[in-house]
Parts: sequence; C-alpha cells; structure tokens
Amino acid sequence: MIVDDVEKWCLDHGIIKELEYRPFRVAKCLYSSSENKYLILMAQLITADMMTSTNPVVAMRLGTEYADKLYDPNLFIRHTVLHEIGHTKGLSEEDSDSFAFNEMSNYGETQQQAEADGSLGVELECPQLNLSVRRTEI
Ligand SMILES: [Zn+2]
Repeated sequence: MIVDDVEKWCLDHGIIKELEYRPFRVAKCLYSSSENKYLILMAQLITADMMTSTNPVVAMRLGTEYADKLYDPNLFIRHTVLHEIGHTKGLSEEDSDSFAFNEMSNYGETQQQAEADGSLGVELECPQLNLSVRRTEI
C-alpha cells in the first residue's frame, strides 16, 4: 500500500509510538497474526534523503559494492520492494537484503520465465488487513 509517510501511517494506526518515529523510512512490512497476512507500506515520494539514509545500512550488512548499486533510483525501488517481500518470507534484515540482490540479479531470467509460463502480469491481491492484532517488522 502506498502512503504519504510510512512512519506517520504507523503512528496513526498505533503500530509505533511517537518516540519510535524514524524519519526517512521508505517502506515497512507489517504482519497481522489474526489474519496471517502481510501488508507492505511504501512511501509515495522517495526522496534523496531516504535513499541516502538507507545506503550505509546496506553497506554495513553486505558491503559497499552492493550499497553503491542503490544510488540508481530504479535499483533502489526494486531493492526496497524485494527487501520487504523478503520479510514476508520470514527473512531477517540482512537476509532480506541478500534475497533482494539475488532476485535483482536473476530479474532478466525470471522475467523471461514468467513470460514463457504466462505468470507475468498476474494481479496482486491488495489485502485489507485487520490490524487489531499487530506485529511489526522493521
Ligand atoms: Zn527490513
């Protein structure tokens, strides 16, 4: 789901507290244990500050050769979405980063396969989550 401000949305929905507000958050993966569903929040506008704040974190986890790729806005967005999808698979922060880069490097191959088997263009369900019971993943 695309929102104006990921942290503000979480604050408004009681998922985080005021003190936990972190500026420049690009995305967040939420899990509803009552429905066993995930919801990925993405910021509507991704600023240079957001990209800059992510880079050192990725550099620390995987090294600068990976982090430097994220200066490319297209790769940054792909990485962010895949990273959050990694969390839906139960992966840690570091493993989600590895998963994202791995998927990005397979992208051409994956797309060709999807075109071949007709799975490209499958509509993704946009879940309406009951967030009354929440667990937050960062
Ligand atoms: Zn994460």
